[in-house]
Order: sequence, then structure tokens, then C-alpha cells
Amino acid sequence: MRKIILNEKDMPDFYYNVQVDLPEPLLPPLHPVTREPIKADDLKPIFPQSLIKQETSDEREIEIPKKVRDKYLSYRPTPLIRALALEEYLNTPARIYYKHEGISPAGSHKLNTAIPQAYFNSIEGIRSLTTETGAGQWGSALSMACSFFNLKCKVFMVKASFEQKPYRRILMELFDAQVLPSPSSTTESGRKTLETDPNSPGSLGIAISEAVEEAVKNPDTNYALGSVLNHVLLHQSIIGLEVKKQLKLADESPEILIGCVGGGSNFGGLIAPFVKKKIKNNQIRLIAVEPSVAASLTKGIFEYDYGDTMGFTPLLAMYTLGHNFVPPPIHAGGLRYHGMAPIISNLYKNKIIEACSYDQKSIFEAARIFAKTEGITPAPESAHAIKKAIDEALIAKEEKKERTIVFLLSGHGYLDLSAYEKNREIN
Ligand SMILES: *Cc1c(COP(=O)(O)O)cnc(C)c1O
Repeated sequence: MRKIILNEKDMPDFYYNVQVDLPEPLLPPLHPVTREPIKADDLKPIFPQSLIKQETSDEREIEIPKKVRDKYLSYRPTPLIRALALEEYLNTPARIYYKHEGISPAGSHKLNTAIPQAYFNSIEGIRSLTTETGAGQWGSALSMACSFFNLKCKVFMVKASFEQKPYRRILMELFDAQVLPSPSSTTESGRKTLETDPNSPGSLGIAISEAVEEAVKNPDTNYALGSVLNHVLLHQSIIGLEVKKQLKLADESPEILIGCVGGGSNFGGLIAPFVKKKIKNNQIRLIAVEPSVAASLTKGIFEYDYGDTMGFTPLLAMYTLGHNFVPPPIHAGGLRYHGMAPIISNLYKNKIIEACSYDQKSIFEAARIFAKTEGITPAPESAHAIKKAIDEALIAKEEKKERTIVFLLSGHGYLDLSAYEKNREIN
């Protein structure tokens, strides 16, 4: 089968909460000032009750509300596609499949959590959401979801991307979002950063500080995060649940699952329903791929750290490069984050998942091979997963092994063409 497509009625009704399968419980987030475990009430100024509840839920399955399902159905279930042309190009005995989240109208998997986040905030009486965005993928997804549920949206966009990626800003503005380059002079955090470094390219950590500050100050405004937190990974589990059904339809049992990691949400969503099996019989490899310049898993340390630069957010137990770390402005803007989701960190620490990293040059080579064979221009973030899938397919070739490899194509790269131009192949 070339394309494995589920019927609308086979779209999952429930999210899968991988927290219940973790080999050891998550360490509690700590209050940024007292360093005591936070209470649910501490999060009330920035998150709605329903998402706070999901954050620490011990239920395996959490129902997807009907209004959220209706919005999902405009683009879900997404196809699982066999990369036959890529296999042929590599001359590998491996079977390579990719889950195509790039067909989401926002261009990436991020809409999967933007929709429920906007929904849950809207039913709890919130009028406006603030957020940060790196490459602009999360900002576009949240802007779109806010317009679905009549919420205002204010986006602090990392300045390096704001300047490199005008089309993302234009897209967000199409959905009536207000977009500011971060660091901005409209918040105390932004002004403080600009004082020490007027030319700061910005980072996700700084933009999060600005967005959280804004949400704390305004009672009818909440904050939305596009990755890292447990409820975000929960929403993304719809990806893995669909993949599981699709592989069953194709009569395949996957040996390797691969995803790129920034904060860990697309990868976390992909692997969520497979972790239990991994722990039980260890037959499957789950591989996270990060950029070598922001490699929190492979080069960071596991400790409590802030989610943002200024230290407003709770301290999370995670692999981190330090909250002050400002990654160089690479083109895979969605992967420029200092920390890693606590769930992914827990799985890595317990050796349930593997991790590796690649530099920018090698991922653009992989992206070009994929574009030329499969005809899809991948997001530079997703190209990290492609690169690993190619490398694993070449190992299978050397070992003369048929092997089922599945990677997650987290987004398309049609708004990243300037990045492709700057990384053009020079022959
Ligand atoms: C944001 C983004 C990522 C990285 O975020 P995760 O939370 O690690 O998934 C990866 N790919 C694309 C296309 C993105 O937009």
C-alpha cells in the first residue's frame, strides 16, 4: 500500500496519556520563587482548569470534546505514506513510512494542540491568549485556532525568525493575531533583555517570558504553550494513535519510530501509544533527533530548570542546556529550545528512547533528497527525522535486513523556502 488512509470514523475519540506508562513518576514542577512543588492554583493565572487537570491526569484515556473533533476532521486523519521513491533511491530493503502532519492547514502538527487549547480556554470564559513562536509554526497554528473560537491572540515572535520569515507573520495577521518581534519593548522582560543586548536575536525562552508576563498581568488573558508540557504531548498523541491503526491496516509492525525534537511534542505524540510495548518487550526503537547546536538530550544535563529565560515559569525536571542558553539562529527555528519535555526527559533518562543530533548542512541534504524523490518540501525541523530515517535505511541495506521504519513529517517547508535558498547545494 502506498498511502494508508483512515476513515473519518476511525479518527481517535480519546487522547492517550503516556504519563500512566512511564517507568518512574514525573518529578513535580517547582514554584519559581519558593522552589516548593506547585499547587494547581499556582497555574490558574495563566492556564484554564481543564488543561491544568490534564497536566497531572492519571487516566490513560482522555476524551476529545466534540467541538475539537469537528475541527480536527477538516484535516484529520492524516495519511501514513510509504516512501517508495525514497526507498528506491536509497536502494534499501527497508520499508520507510512517513506520517504526514504537513497537510494540516497550519502547515504542521501544532494545530493538533492549538485547537483543544483554544477550545478549553474559550469555554472557561477567557477572551485572549498570548504565546511565543520560533519559526512561526506555533504562532500560525494558535492564531488559526483562536479565530475558530473567537479569541484574540498576541504572539511574541523570536526576532531572528520575525526578520527571516515575513510570510509566517503575514499568515498570523491574516487570522487577526497581533505579532511582535521578541525581545520587544512592550514587556519588562523584553526591555531587560534589550538593555543588556540591543541586538539580541531572541530565543524561545525570552519570548515565553514576555508572553507569560502579559498573561499574568491581564485577568481575561491566558497563556498557551506549543510544546514541552504534558497536556501538549497528550493532544499530540492523536498522531501516534492514528499511526498505530494505520500500521495495523498495512500489516506492519514497526521496528523504528523517529521524530525530530524541539520541545518534544511531535515525537512524544508519535511514540505515546508505543511506549508500553517498548517497556514490555523492547522490540521497538524510539529515536529522537535534535539539531547539534541545541541538543538538550545528547548534550544537556537532567536537572530542574526554568522553561523561560527570565525564570517566571515553574521549574521542570528535564534535560536542559540552561535557561540562559541562546541557540544560534539556525533555520530549524522550531528546534531552538534550551530544554526538553519532562515526559521525553523521563523516557530518555530511563533509556526507553534514544537520541541523536545532526548539523544543519546534513539535514538540508536529507531534505533535498526527500523533496526530489517524494515531491514534498519538508520543514527544516522535520528534515532531522528524515536524515535519521535515511541513515537507518542505509544501515538496513548494509545488514541486508528488511526493516520497517516510520518517521514523522511534522510539517511542510513551503514557508521556509528562504532557508532552502540560503542552504543551497553548491556543485
Ligand atoms: C515546532 C515544530 C517542531 C518542534 O517542536 P516539538 O514540540 O518538538 O514537536 C518540529 N517540527 C515542526 C514542523 C514544528 O513546527
